[in-house]
Amino acid sequence: MTRLILIVVAVVAVIWLLRRALAGPRAGKPPGEAGEQKGELVACAQCGVNLPKGEARGAGGRFYCSEEHWRLGPRDG
Ligand SMILES: [Zn+2]
Repeated sequence: MTRLILIVVAVVAVIWLLRRALAGPRAGKPPGEAGEQKGELVACAQCGVNLPKGEARGAGGRFYCSEEHWRLGPRDG
């Protein structure tokens, strides 16, 4: 039973390290090459923060980071 727990802990640790390694270097890839992807980042039209497209609120071809900014609308008018 102890071995099973050790294996589970090891697997979780490996996944955690891989996620950290993937999230670390961001400046390497050139922008605009990926195109439409699931993990695509979009900029909030109100405050400019980048967030995944799936978590953004879309309206009129623009994206917002939160419901508050969605209500405020784009900063540039
Ligand atoms: Zn925002």
